[in-house]
Amino acid sequence: MKERAISGDRGVLVLAEHERGELKEVTLEVLGAGRKLADKLGDKLGALLLGHDATGLAEPLGHHFADVVYVMDSPELEIPSASSYLAPLQHFIAENQPRVLLMGATPLGRELGPRLAARLGGSLASDCTILDVNEDGLLLQTKPAYGGKVYTTLICPSSRPQMATVKPGVMEVKPPNADRRAQMVRVTPVMEKTPVEVLDFIKGDPSDVPLEEADIVVAGGRGVGGAANFGILEELAGVLGGTVGASRAAVDEGWIPFEKQVGQTGKTVSPKLYIACGISGQIQHVMGMKDSRSIIAINIDVAAPIFKVADVGIVGDLREVVPALAELLRQAVKEGTIKTVGDVTKALRS
Ligand SMILES: Cc1cc2nc3c(=O)[nH]c(=O)nc-3n(C[C@H](O)[C@H](O)[C@H](O)COP(=O)(O)OP(=O)(O)OC[C@H]3O[C@@H](n4cnc5c(N)ncnc54)[C@H](O)[C@@H]3O)c2cc1C
Repeated sequence: MKERAISGDRGVLVLAEHERGELKEVTLEVLGAGRKLADKLGDKLGALLLGHDATGLAEPLGHHFADVVYVMDSPELEIPSASSYLAPLQHFIAENQPRVLLMGATPLGRELGPRLAARLGGSLASDCTILDVNEDGLLLQTKPAYGGKVYTTLICPSSRPQMATVKPGVMEVKPPNADRRAQMVRVTPVMEKTPVEVLDFIKGDPSDVPLEEADIVVAGGRGVGGAANFGILEELAGVLGGTVGASRAAVDEGWIPFEKQVGQTGKTVSPKLYIACGISGQIQHVMGMKDSRSIIAINIDVAAPIFKVADVGIVGDLREVVPALAELLRQAVKEGTIKTVGDVTKALRS
């Protein structure tokens, strides 16, 4: 690997992603991981907050364990985009030489991370699920490989900062400490003219979100019994703001397109909530969804292997259970008793 100008031993940095005035959950997850790394390294944890009039987010970043929040404010940074973030981050890193830079493996992080690494002449480990440091203070970047059959740990000894994107929904959000305050440092962003102009940010329909990025997946298998019955899964996904997935058996039957397949030869997903309906839980399917934060399984067979990986198991006919669940959750959402994905799992446990 070529020798680099940046020596990089100053702290752990997390890119704070936000949308319409709120920090993204993945940022809170990454901050928790960053705190652990910073403590082990005896370093400071910094958060990079780029935006326009977003200073109010510095406080929650402090509550979520950042020691320092670097605020870069510009109207050009109002709509988050890889093109507008690139130059300010490149200059900030060159000047401050952080040891580690972490960001969520979100659409922004997935575009920004590689572009930034290329500009810095460095490296990037994408979609990490575990982060740690070794005895030499090097970042251990662990991620699933070969369709989740093995975990690979990467180190980048000569690359600074050591850059990684973190898969959303895998790491825990640590409970915030409202007494913590971060030091706020204003930084003038170095902007550059880019060929891309972002005109607006329009949130898509959650059911159109690619499977790998969905917070909630309602997946159906052979037990769904036909293409028409996927309608009840879609209804449940609609109530929860999620999207529909499937086992290979359902895809092979022609009930749902291949891009919805989860598993060894389909997509690997790690949503906050995975609801497996009429899926037996064969290893090739489980490989693609086992990293989901919470798993609910609905199956008529009490001995179905899917119950071994499920946090909540419902033994019953999905054609009755799924519409009943949708109705129950619709009511709960209306009454305001369910606001987060965690509330769904809690409601189903009780
Ligand atoms: C090389 C290879 C790669 C593969 N890749 C994948 C992959 O990427 N993804 C994948 O999913 N599979 C994959 N498979 C296939 C995998 O081995 C299983 O055959 C497949 O996952 C089974 O799908 P299923 O669970 O929907 O069907 P089944 O195993 O037939 O299970 C159906 C389940 O539905 C339940 N059920 C039936 N009726 C109802 C009802 N009314 N209500 C509730 N429950 C009901 C049954 O009790 C049963 O548990 C692969 C296989 C190979 C060999």
